[in-house]
Amino acid sequence: MRIRPLQILLALAGLWICTSVLADSGWQVVDVEGRDYLSVENIAQFYQLQIAPGADAQHVTLSAAHASIETLTNPREINVNGVKQWLSFPVLCRDGKLLVSRFDLAKTIEPCLRPAMIGNLELFNTVVLDAGHGGQDGGGHTLTGSEKDYTLDVIRDLRQSLEAKGLRVVLTRDHDEYLSLEQRADFANSIPDAVFVSVHFNSGEAEANGLEVYAMTPRGAASTSDTHAALDQLEQMPGNDFDNASLALANCVHHAVLGSLDTTDRGVKRARFAVLRLTHSPAILIEGGFMTSGADSREITDPTWRRKLAEAIVVGVRSYQNVVQYKQAPKLVADYRAEQSAANVVAVAAVASAGNSNLLPVSNHRAAFGLQHRTTMITVPARKR
Ligand SMILES: [Zn+2]
Repeated sequence: MRIRPLQILLALAGLWICTSVLADSGWQVVDVEGRDYLSVENIAQFYQLQIAPGADAQHVTLSAAHASIETLTNPREINVNGVKQWLSFPVLCRDGKLLVSRFDLAKTIEPCLRPAMIGNLELFNTVVLDAGHGGQDGGGHTLTGSEKDYTLDVIRDLRQSLEAKGLRVVLTRDHDEYLSLEQRADFANSIPDAVFVSVHFNSGEAEANGLEVYAMTPRGAASTSDTHAALDQLEQMPGNDFDNASLALANCVHHAVLGSLDTTDRGVKRARFAVLRLTHSPAILIEGGFMTSGADSREITDPTWRRKLAEAIVVGVRSYQNVVQYKQAPKLVADYRAEQSAANVVAVAAVASAGNSNLLPVSNHRAAFGLQHRTTMITVPARKR
């Protein structure tokens, strides 16, 4: 391990998306087996975060009022602003220092912490919605239905809500038909000024549950599912021009859904799925829950829950639109949960007030029922992450 001078960092500036990162003179790049890393102290200094040590040398939290970064047990996972992010390269511990790859700083941490500073954010007026699977490709199955039908139902709700917000919406499919992944991407690429949102439901081990949102893996980086990918292969893997914008869109949607629904955070992940790789616009793929999990599948088969999922996705897309259009910092999962808690307090007050009224006893019962439901949703602890 050796410290490389700032001049070398500047010579490698092509990878950096944010010029303000470059402009800072405080970076000290650490070379570990040919890959560039930065210490968490260096990162904390740049983003003006305070460091709090964790239970052991592998764990640390960097935080301030405006942002937080936390290393997790899996060295390829970190928590940024309250949600899990999957890194391309593990966090290393060398000579008592925790090191984060420069690549992950530029391609994950920076666009997570400062999405409004992503260089090529483009205004959009259209959302291309893609219901996963269709026709002879049913996707996953629950005891009562197929993924292709649940995704189409969510997409139809999404269309209605997004159009109500003034956005133009086009669907890759609006009925039960088979489309190849390439056809979906080609269709998306024929629509100007758009973002692409694909909805799926997951399959896996019986105990697997929760939400994943995917964005395109950057060039030269490992996808989340890559475990032993050779570096020379990684260098040849393509990225696209929108991987940072796609990550920002993925984050906006991930925060909004986690802030609204009681579901497990499996993280914002990276993959070279065809619909992400071939689409020439910010593009995400949402895995809204596991068809193979008892708890998740009960929710997926519930039309009311699917409606809530669609509403949360709409909130996330609108949050991304505000980042693009107004350079507005997106709401975080904690903001959404605080809003829900505040709404619950208002509901409690409304019920208490109604309870003192002699005029509307019937509506008291209705309100009390609704309150009980909402209180349960909020006070039940989030599932173990
Ligand atoms: Zn699927």
